[in-house]
Amino acid sequence: SKRRRRNGWQAFSPELASRQQQRLQAETQLRRALDNGEFHLVYQPQVDLRSGRILYAEALVRWHNPQLGEMRPDRFIDLAETTGDIIRIGNWVLQEACAQMRRWREQDLPIHRIAVNVSYRQFTGDNLGESVRRALADAGLPGHALELELTERVLVDDTPDTLEVFDQLRLLGVQLSIDDFGEGYSALNYLRRLPIHALKLSQSFLKGVPGKPSDVAICQAVAGIAQSLGLGMVAEGVESEAQRDFLLRLGVNVGQGFLFAPGLLPGEFAKRVAAQQDA
Ligand code: C2E
Ligand code: CA
Ligand code: CA
Repeated sequence: SKRRRRNGWQAFSPELASRQQQRLQAETQLRRALDNGEFHLVYQPQVDLRSGRILYAEALVRWHNPQLGEMRPDRFIDLAETTGDIIRIGNWVLQEACAQMRRWREQDLPIHRIAVNVSYRQFTGDNLGESVRRALADAGLPGHALELELTERVLVDDTPDTLEVFDQLRLLGVQLSIDDFGEGYSALNYLRRLPIHALKLSQSFLKGVPGKPSDVAICQAVAGIAQSLGLGMVAEGVESEAQRDFLLRLGVNVGQGFLFAPGLLPGEFAKRVAAQQDA
């Protein structure tokens, strides 16, 4: 093909060729994965950092493919964004997470909200407002039971279309938070303009806490921004007692991480919530 010829040197690197082959294989498998029922969701508890009690859940997608094995989202979300498959996958995640939330509510489990990760592609390439409305309606959920985690990418290159989606989401009453806050872009002006409720401190900054002064300073600064704008703050990647205590001193009360639990299957999640009710 034309492209092949232009980058002819690529053909001489076996390593690159096999990487391209792997990518092509992943692409083919990804296209069929939804229809083959290869995705499922796990739910990571978001807890009250002081008591450890589970308050909310974040849905995280998992892909098990018979040929490729267990694929972590880090390895396929980017690809799905490139191919556009993320729109269908993202809609499935929305539907499934809302359906799960409905089942928990039917079991009278006090899980107040479910958070779902949304790709920037869902904002630009799809009627996200309509997808969210339908997922809520199908599950019979009020908007405030759903939180969408957005990346800064959506917020920085907002167009009239994205602003319209924000309007629809605001009307539906869903909560919006910024994932990996501080990682991507440093523009803060969107925080004044858009209906954002909470910031999720990127776990890359928490990694160096409490040992690395620059990471400590960034965590403090993010907490300061959240507090002065009246936004909620959630810490992710909480792995140690020292990090938890640091966050509590900063006034951050909600967090998630391996110190408490990894992503759990729905039954295990429900069991833990039920156990804290009895306690
Ligand atoms: P994220 O949204 O920042 O999710 C947090 C990631 O950190 C998850 O990885 C989680 O398992 C992991 N994690 C949780 N606690 C800890 C901890 O204490 N220490 C460490 N080192 N890691 C922890 P996961 O599930 O592999 O997801 C990776 C990323 O893939 C997510 O990062 C998110 O950006 C994306 N992703 C996952 N599910 C979806 C989805 O349904 N849709 C979209 N668009 N993206 C998703
Ligand atoms: Ca997230
Ligand atoms: Ca994150």
